Amino acid sequence: MGWYNKRLAKSIWVFHVSASPCNNCDIEILDLLTPAYDLERFGIKLVGSVRHADVLLVSGIINQKVAPKVKKLYEQAPKPCFVVGIGTCPSSGCCFKDSYNKTEKFQEVIPIDLYIPGCPPKPENMIEGIMKLVEVLNG
Ligand code: SF4
Repeated sequence: MGWYNKRLAKSIWVFHVSASPCNNCDIEILDLLTPAYDLERFGIKLVGSVRHADVLLVSGIINQKVAPKVKKLYEQAPKPCFVVGIGTCPSSGCCFKDSYNKTEKFQEVIPIDLYIPGCPPKPENMIEGIMKLVEVLNG
């Protein structure tokens, strides 16, 4: 676990990957940046490039169009990179589970380390989930 400590000894940077969601989870992720939740007070920063990310926040389902893009983004992220599924979509497909549009499970495209369920999850739950991930990784 030593290398986790070194990797996450400072602020963790997160990158948001919106696959094919209804966008409600994405709006809740943006809420994290508002003064009401102020994600950066925990040292967690939303970054604009996947190449700077320690953690990927993924939302939505996988369809034919986004599958190669999501895979490529994961490959471009520096390793170790941890993936957090935001909302019920990445785990079960939620209301899209029987959709013609859903081609495969998220986990078949990239590994997901943690799920934060909800449709959409509250910003407080997302903060708690990310903090728990950091806690677990730091032993
Ligand atoms: S979990 Fe619910 S709110 Fe989030 S993207 Fe899926 S359907 Fe939308």
